[in-house]
Amino acid sequence: MRFVDSHTHIYLRGSEDVEAMSAAGVEGVVVCSYFPVKPTGPSTLIDLHRWLTEVEPERLKKYGILTLVAVGIHPRSIPSTGVGEVLDHISSLFESGKASALGEVGLETAGSEEEKILIRQIDLAKSYGLPMIFHTPRQNKAQVFDRLLKLIEGQKVDMTKVIIDHLSAGLVVRARELNANVGITVQSGKMSEQDVVSIISSAGAEGIMVNSDLSNQPSDPLTLPKVAKTLIDAGINKEDVLKVTYSNAKKILKF
Ligand SMILES: [Zn+2]
Repeated sequence: MRFVDSHTHIYLRGSEDVEAMSAAGVEGVVVCSYFPVKPTGPSTLIDLHRWLTEVEPERLKKYGILTLVAVGIHPRSIPSTGVGEVLDHISSLFESGKASALGEVGLETAGSEEEKILIRQIDLAKSYGLPMIFHTPRQNKAQVFDRLLKLIEGQKVDMTKVIIDHLSAGLVVRARELNANVGITVQSGKMSEQDVVSIISSAGAEGIMVNSDLSNQPSDPLTLPKVAKTLIDAGINKEDVLKVTYSNAKKILKF
């Protein structure tokens, strides 16, 4: 089988993991921007984005894996100074085609600074017609999700380009009703393989993408193959399994 992992921070993992993913059939990964400490200035994120766009695709290519890079200011990575400079750099990466999506961006506490910076980023991605990958937090997920949806709708974004990630089962239907795409992160403490079975059984496979959110935190590079096996064993038809582990991500993110 073939897989695309639609949300990773694979730059925080060693090449042994990349090799294992490639051997298991992962042929594409989305690399999302996130820096685990609050940056003291703009150069932290500018250099992170250079790493993701200039180094990561070449490293993964050696293992036959195609990379799609998403750049943006994560709500937990807002620099203390120089947000405008980071946005200018993001804009130049969109302009040159080195980055092909906005992400991951979103709201953590939904404070006014987070919201202002998010709106500027949405406007930027919208002007380039790019997909947008939105984070939702572990804490107050439903509340922040509502706020995020209002904000996205307020910016008149084409919902088919929106991916709302790390959703819980209860929020999937709401997002799909609005035509937004959904990311489901399978990880201990987030969603389980069995949760994916029940989501697809009730909401179908359209617009849904499974991901590992692979990072330096506990996460599994073989999430996609393992989820696919569980889905097939549970009797989900192969076409739907392919959609949530491969083809939806290819179509929506334009791999
Ligand atoms: Zn992430």
